[in-house]
Order: sequence, then structure tokens, then C-alpha cells
Amino acid sequence: MNMNPLLSVNSLTTALRNGANIVDGISFEIAAGETFALLGESGCGKSMTALSLMRLLPDGVVNKSGAAQIEKVSLLELPEREMRAVRGGTMAMIFQEPGLSLNPVMTVGQQIAEVLALHQGIGGADALLSCIELLEQVGIPDAARRVSEYPFQFSGGMKQRVMIAMALAGKPKLLIADEPTTALDVTIQAQVLKLLRDTQRQNGMAMLLITHDLGVVAENAHRVAVMYAGEIVEQASRSELFANPLHPYTQKLFAALPDAAARNRALMAIPGSVPPLGSITQGCRFAPRCDKAWALCHAQTPAWTKIGERQGVRCHLYSEPVAGSSLLVAKDNSEQTELGNVQPATRKPLLQVSDLQVHFPIRKGILQRVAGYVKAVDGVSLEISQGRTLALVGESGCGKTTLGKALLQLIRPTDGSVRFAGSELIGLAADELRSRRAAMQMVFQDPYASLNPKLRVAEILEEGMSALNMGGSSSARQAHIDGLLDKCGLARSAKWRYPHEFSGGQRQRIAIARALAVSPRLLICDEPTSALDVSVQAQILNLLKSLQAELGLSYLFITHNLAVVEYLAHEVCVMYQGKVVERGTAEQVLRAPQHDYTKSLLAAVPRIVGMPLASG
Ligand code: SF4
Repeated sequence: MNMNPLLSVNSLTTALRNGANIVDGISFEIAAGETFALLGESGCGKSMTALSLMRLLPDGVVNKSGAAQIEKVSLLELPEREMRAVRGGTMAMIFQEPGLSLNPVMTVGQQIAEVLALHQGIGGADALLSCIELLEQVGIPDAARRVSEYPFQFSGGMKQRVMIAMALAGKPKLLIADEPTTALDVTIQAQVLKLLRDTQRQNGMAMLLITHDLGVVAENAHRVAVMYAGEIVEQASRSELFANPLHPYTQKLFAALPDAAARNRALMAIPGSVPPLGSITQGCRFAPRCDKAWALCHAQTPAWTKIGERQGVRCHLYSEPVAGSSLLVAKDNSEQTELGNVQPATRKPLLQVSDLQVHFPIRKGILQRVAGYVKAVDGVSLEISQGRTLALVGESGCGKTTLGKALLQLIRPTDGSVRFAGSELIGLAADELRSRRAAMQMVFQDPYASLNPKLRVAEILEEGMSALNMGGSSSARQAHIDGLLDKCGLARSAKWRYPHEFSGGQRQRIAIARALAVSPRLLICDEPTSALDVSVQAQILNLLKSLQAELGLSYLFITHNLAVVEYLAHEVCVMYQGKVVERGTAEQVLRAPQHDYTKSLLAAVPRIVGMPLASG
């Protein structure tokens, strides 16, 4: 135990007013200058822990019991008036979505000045100077001018910097960063995380870093707690955790990560999902998903077992003398099935794109005359063969998604050629195009927004078939739908339910089934796993790989996630400002990048390498 922790949290329990615990008796400490990461999937209670500490809980959620002290001040008992001085002063918080956290009708300078006035007593001309200094410190160029701009005039990465400047304005001893880079591109993420590390080094500030990203933890945290279903299930130093993850859940999180080494096998997905709040009152909460569970796990709640001075785990494997178990539990590979042999690619290009251009006119003046063009896609050429996966990588705004839509002619290209199975698509009449589109389907990033909430799953799957007059009689279509649900790992009873009744991963399965309903040969997948947790991502990647093996599908996989590219792609195109700047096999581009932009993209990805994982 640290003798002088800055923050100490003891058996903190946060609950819904009706009783179920969201955060359930968690304890941890953070020292000055230390970064402590809370790691886990959505819904495991990480953000609620942060909001409990800040006393910013949403309506209907209360701090039920336990204690939290910062510099010996008891946070949970402080009168609200004094808490306001702590919030933004002793401890500050930055959120995932800077766009939602900044006030759109105040300039960034006014917003930072508010914090300076409240917590530092600085006002007037001094406040303006301090604002400019803070904006410079967080790397905003031309700070003297930009201080009087509004949030909408800043990009996502710059807004996050403004949020950090606001947080730093109160000179906090503890910064709580809740998924601070999840909404950002990988190069901006690297810059923001470096900025936080540098600031910490200069000020000795402590940081509570909330993330689901093991790469971010590997590069930034000193110590880590893994949360599952409201509890901390493992706590260790970063090196201990990465060298030898103890809890079966932590081991599975590591095993679910896609990478090149896993290319020829299915990723180890964690079956099932996090249990609903309060649904497991007895036994281990991970037991329904744990392949090491035995009778005791269902009957008795595991206690916290200390392994070392500052390391511990909540699992019976470490508290009971179990035959065949040891502290160094080998990773269970029972779910790592070999994928079926991918059908040999014929190498004949299925899709050939040459010199494709999509330019959007910029109109000005009363007469809306064309004053110039935004060249969203600027002379792109690529090819995809049957049964192959081409990854299109690049950052937000580089033209990836516009290109995907232009291939399907959802956006009319300005110029160039798109040949599918030997015939030209550009210039086709609308009805001819509609029948060709069946062979090329799209799967979108957000499974929440891409399914019609008013239709049941069966209707969603049938819609495309009806529109294209495919699938035969109504009973033949129903049989086809049953087959699609089986293929995509969904229960047949799912047909009669609505999208909102499913989890994110299940909805993405429905979106894939919908795309497959019209028997396509090419799927354009636009960031299909970026809204999903790592274990759910593993399930979807496994599904896409096995569908490719079974049906010989080709994929154009639009993504910014290079680990997914390593796992899935045969070829890679790197896009930057509307152009393809590098292309080649996945091996060539990722192992020996030639273009400076590809090099900087690869350098910005947080890596877990260099920290040997106990079980591969
Ligand atoms: Fe698995 Fe049992 Fe350990 Fe829970 S207590 S993680 S079910 S082995």
C-alpha cells in the first residue's frame, strides 16, 4: 500500500435508487504523479466510478456507501458548496466527447477564464494572458487569436485540447480522463496522450485514466485495475498485468485482440455479454462466461485475494487450492478454432476502380456560383479479387467513406471508372444500377443508426429481397431468413424482435445478415467494429472471416484500426487527403511502410509489444 496516497477509495458503492449496485465495493489508491487506469468494457461501471468521485451522478443514481478521500478530504460527505471548489480545483475531469462538454455559445477563452476566476482568483487582463498561455501549453497554434473563437471553429482533437486546457486551468492535483481519446484519430490520440504525460511530468499531477483500450493502458498507466460488472476483478502494476494477466476475464481481453499472429485462427471471443445490473447475487459475476468455472464459482462469491504488496485478484482459482490450477494460469485456447480453409482466391479482379474522382462544388454568393471544389476522392485506383479483403485505412476526413459510397454509386462520382465483375457501373441508368447493387452491399459503422427501429428483424432482412424481387415465394424467403440468422450466429426467434432489443454486437450481426440477404459478392464494411468493445469486435471479426471462407465473399474493409487490418486484410491501401498514398500486401505495408504518412500512422498506434504476454 502506498503510505501517502493522493486519492484513496474504499469500498465505494454506487447504486440505482431502486437498489441495484452499479459500482460495487471498489477500493483503490492513486499517488501524486501516478497514472492509474481503470480498464474494462462498456457497462462495467468505469465512468460511473469517475462520476461518483466528482459527485456528478445522473438522476436516480446515488453514492450508497464507502468512502473516497482526496488529500484526506472526504469527498462523499463534503457539502455541495465546498465540493464545487474541489471540482475543477483539486480534481478535474475530461470527457470522451469534447464537443458535448464545451459550451457552444461561449468562446473558449471565456470558458477557460471562468475556471481561472473560480479556482485561481485570476480575472481581467491576467486571465486573458493565462488563457493564451494554457492554450499554447496544450499545443494550440496561434493561441492569441484562437482564444476568442467558439468551439465549433475547432476540430475534434483541438476541442479535446481546449478541454484539457480548461481542466489544467484549475491546477488540479488529480485529473480524471474518461476515454479522452476514443473519439479521436490515432495520430491525434498519440498527441493528446503525450500532452497529458508531459503535463503530468511537469506538474506531478495524478491521473485516473478510464479506457477500454489495452494499447492506451500499455503506453500510459503505472498501475491498472480491471473492472467487470461493477467490481474490480484484478489490480496490478502495468508490467505485472501485461506480463501475466491473472483473472480469466483479463486473459480473455488480451486473447480477443486482433493481430497478425492470429490471422489463421478465430479470435478468442468472450461468449455472452456483461450480466444486467444486480442479476447475479450469488457466485462469481463472470461465471456464466468463464470456461474455467466450476461448482464453487456459481455457489460462492470470490473474495479479493492479495497476490503481492499491491497486486490482487477476485477469483477462486487463486483463493482455493484447486487441483490443476496455479497462479500462472495458462490461457485457455478452447475457443481458438482453426478457421475453415479460405477458398483459394481466383485472383481475377472482382472490383476494378480506376482514377475515381468525387469532387464537391463550393458555391458562393447570391447566385451560388461554383467557386472551387473539395476533392474528397482524387484519382483513386484499386482492385479487389474474389475471396480477398482489401483494407482502406486513413484518418477521419481522408475520403474513405466517400469512396465506399461512390463505389456503390450512392454518391455519383465526378469521373473515373468502377468495373464490377467486368462491367462498368458508372453511367448506368437507375434501374440497371439497382439490380447490380445486390452484388455489392454495405455494412455501416453504427449498428444503432443503420437499422430501421420500426421494423422487426424478419422485415429488415426481407426488405432488400422484396425491393430486388429476389428470394422466391414468401415461405422460401422465410427459410432463407432462418438460414441467414443461423449463419450470423443469431437465434431464429430473433426474427420477431425489434433492433432496440439487441446489444450492439447482435445488431451488427443483423446488419451483416441484412447485407447477405441479397447474396452479394462484395461487402463494403465501413468501420463495422469501431463502435464495439474488444470482445464483441472479436465475435464480429470471426463471423466475417468464417463467412468469407464459406461464401468466398470479398471485403472492402474501411477502418482506422491497424490491428484489425493486420488480422483481416490481404491487401492494404492507405488514403490521405483523397488520394491513395501507399498500397501493397498487408505484410508489405504494415512491416515495411514506404510513405511518410503510413510511417506516422503506424508510429502513432499504441502498442502492447515489448511487454511479453504470459500466454501469447
Ligand atoms: Fe472463472 Fe470461477 Fe474465477 Fe469466476 S471465480 S473468474 S468463474 S474461475
